[in-house]
Parts: sequence; C-alpha cells; structure tokens
Amino acid sequence: MNICVIGTGYVGLVTGVSLVNFGHKVICVGRDEDKIERINRCEPPFYEPGLDHLLTKSITRKQFFATSNLRESIKQSDITIIAVGTPTIKGEIDLIPIKEMSQQVGQALRGHKQYHIVVVKSTVLPKTTENVVKPIIEEYSGGKAGIQFGICMNPEFLREGNALEDALHPDRIVIGQYDIKSGKTYAKLYKDLGCPILFTGLSTAEMIKYSANAFFATLISYSNEIARLCEEIDGIDIVNVWKGLHLDARLTPTINGRRIIPGFINYLFSGCGYGGSCFPKDTKALVAYSQKLGYEPLLIKSVIKINKKQPLLMVLHLKRRIRVLKNKNITVLGLAFKPETDDTRESPAFPIIRVLLKEGANVKVCDPRVKNLNEKSINSNTIKFAKNIEDALSGAQAVLVVTAWDEFKKLTPKIFKKYMNNPIVVDGRRIYNKESMEQEGIQYEGIGVR
Ligand code: NAD
Repeated sequence: MNICVIGTGYVGLVTGVSLVNFGHKVICVGRDEDKIERINRCEPPFYEPGLDHLLTKSITRKQFFATSNLRESIKQSDITIIAVGTPTIKGEIDLIPIKEMSQQVGQALRGHKQYHIVVVKSTVLPKTTENVVKPIIEEYSGGKAGIQFGICMNPEFLREGNALEDALHPDRIVIGQYDIKSGKTYAKLYKDLGCPILFTGLSTAEMIKYSANAFFATLISYSNEIARLCEEIDGIDIVNVWKGLHLDARLTPTINGRRIIPGFINYLFSGCGYGGSCFPKDTKALVAYSQKLGYEPLLIKSVIKINKKQPLLMVLHLKRRIRVLKNKNITVLGLAFKPETDDTRESPAFPIIRVLLKEGANVKVCDPRVKNLNEKSINSNTIKFAKNIEDALSGAQAVLVVTAWDEFKKLTPKIFKKYMNNPIVVDGRRIYNKESMEQEGIQYEGIGVR
C-alpha cells in the first residue's frame, strides 16, 4: 500500500521505515526543510540504533522519501498516519499540532476521489479522534467519515532506544476503528506480522496508550518510594530488596526449568526518576483530563510527585560527602533520559544540573550521544562538555551517574581512582557494586541505600 506518514520525529520516521520493511511504499511529511534533506541523504536526524541502516535501505530501494508537500503526499497515498508531537503545556495536552494537521489533511482530501484512511498515531486523550480530528477533517474535506474517508486511532508502543525492534516486531497492534471498514482496511498493513491485532473503539484505543504509560510510570515511582524508605533504614540496600521481590514466582515464573523475566521487571527497579517524551507528559495530561471530568486521580498524581523529587535525591546523596558545593568540580554522567537514545526531553539530568549550578558547583557533563544541551532552563555556557570519559573524570571531585550507558557501566573503581582524587560516586542507576567500590576506597552513594 502507499502510505503518507506525517511527522519525521522518533515515531514518524521509525514507523515509516518499518512500514517499508513490511512491503509498503512510504512518504514521510515534515515541515523543516533541513531535516527533510538530511533524511533524504539517509541521515537520521536523531540517534536510534539501526535506523541509519533501515533508512538507507528504504531510500536506495526507492520505497521511501521525505517531503514537506503534504497535499501531494496524501494524493499519492491510500492511508495517512498522523504522528506529530502532542506535548503538554501547563500540564494539559497541546492539541494545536493535531488540529493543524487535521485541517491540512481535510484540505488535501477535498475533491479526493478515492476512499482514504486517516490514522491518528500520536498519543491523544480519549475522545480526541472522534470529537476533534474527525469533525475538522469532515469540515475541511467536505466529506463524511465512514463514507469518503475512514478513520482509526492506532496508539504507538515503541520504546526509544529499541524503537526499530519494537516497530518491526510489535507485541500487539491496537486499532481503534470508527467503523469496521476503516479498521479492516488499516489492519491490512500489518497482516503478515503474526502478532495479535486488537480492534476497539476510538476512545478505548486512546485510553490503552495512557493506561500503559501510567502503569509503567507507576511501577517506577513505586520502586522509588520503596527506595526512599530503605534510605531511612540502616543496613538495607534496595538492590537486594528487588532481588528478593523479583524472585517471586508470580512475577518471574519458572517455565520448563527456565526463569522467565518479563519486561515489566525492568520498571521495578529504583533510580533517579523517569524522563523522556512520554511518561512525564502523558501522566500529567491524564491527570488534567481526569480532573476536568471531575475525578481526582490520586495514584497518578502521587506517581508524578514522587518522580519530581527523585532526581534531587542525587544532590542530597552528594551532600552527604561534600557539604558545600560551591566551586567544587562535579561531573554528571549522562544527559539522555535513558541509554541508547539522544533524547533529553524531561531528562532527570536537568533538575540535577540546575541545583548544582545554583549551589555554585563547576558542572561538567558527559554523554556518549548528546553533544548539545537542548534545555531552555539551563544556560549552556554555564556547563562544560567533556571530550571523553577521561576528561569527564579528570579533576572531578564527584561524579553523578544519571544514565545507565554501557560506557559508564564499564567504569571500574581503578578507572575512577586513576583520574579522580579520593573519588565520590553517586550512582543514580545502581550500575556499580557498592561493596566492590567501597573495598577499593571509592566513596559510594546510591539511590536506595543509606
Ligand atoms: P517528535 O517530537 O520526535 O516528533 C514530532 C514530529 O511532529 C516532528 O517531526 C515535528 O516536526 C512534527 N510536527 C509537530 N507539529 C507539526 C505541525 N504542526 N506540522 C507538521 N509537523 C509537525 O515526537 P515523537 O516522539 O515522534 O512523538 C510523536 C507522537 O507519538 C507523540 O504524540 C508521542 O506522545 C507519541 N509517542 C511517542 C513515543 C516515543 O517514544 N517518542 C512512543 C509512543 C508514542
């Protein structure tokens, strides 16, 4: 089939090249000409493992290109997938990009003879597809949903850092359908994948995505709440608490003599908080939406509150070792909100850096993939970027590990001692063994241990 994907971000581009891999022809629509040119030169505008390879393959086989011409792209397609950003502004979802796109899609469909399917892939709150997207497209196209065009809501579950694997081998496809014809036609895209396809109403599909993100965010904040409790008690290390919990056969059953470690176990682990482009904004949007409906979402509100404080615990740990941070050289290891991505949106590194700067510390940062500070709240001239790991550690009085990159996991006590004088390590991801660190004379602090 011929597909038009609107949005050249993490979801748009990854969806585009995966659909090519499933045998379809894709046009990806963006609005930034520089970015479009880069994509057409086979250069992904962000880091995602394997994306450069699949993008190059898709373009050289002439199955994929990027453009800013939405009207023409829709004209040449059977299906249009909307994958633009849905940020939150003052805690509420900002639907401007979705509304603008619905209007432009509607205009492009005016006078279009063929039946066309419009699919919302962006994360939107329940009723958005039905009450916002559909009426706008109807108004601007002059057509009727279910007759001239079909409409679906297809939430995306890919995880940055693993996005291609997730998109190429999805665990399920959820298709919220306006009517059976829309759902059936859209499902043809995924017919050979062999994974379950769940057909629902539009709003149910929208809610499934929010419930998934709120669920994983809840597991993280639950893990962090228990970690904070452990920090109040002498002799308990959260790492050992999780070992004990994870062995529960209800969580990790043994099948045919092999213990199964389900994916959600990764979220039952403590650290300096979740970040990224989804959990923070989607939990906030869900709270605001719920409150508008008159329901106070107590649990999700607590999840957000716990997460907001979590990065600052890193500075509290640091201050157990260095009481006054003024003029101290502190290195933050990691800016990306998680490993294998260069996405720094809502990264826990930022609140940590803000406090360090406020207290007068000299801050150096090091990240294998992030080379610019993409954060308005911090003046990039106030921090230094390390050239490499040696530079990051040299002369630092303390390091704070924010992102569990493999490059940081490999650092041994000997390496810390080689470059730092009397090293202090604050482990925000619990990637080092506390005992081995201490045996080698490192002053070790970790989330979830006193
Ligand atoms: P992104 O910020 O990386 O990309 C958004 C894209 O939308 C950009 O290419 C931007 O140029 C484009 N865009 C925004 N407004 C536009 C407009 N008015 N006209 C044309 N293009 C416009 O965002 P993303 O991470 O790809 O997320 C997209 C959607 O998918 C969001 O709703 C997000 O919540 C959801 N989602 C994201 C992930 C993820 O891991 N990133 C996973 C699942 C779902």
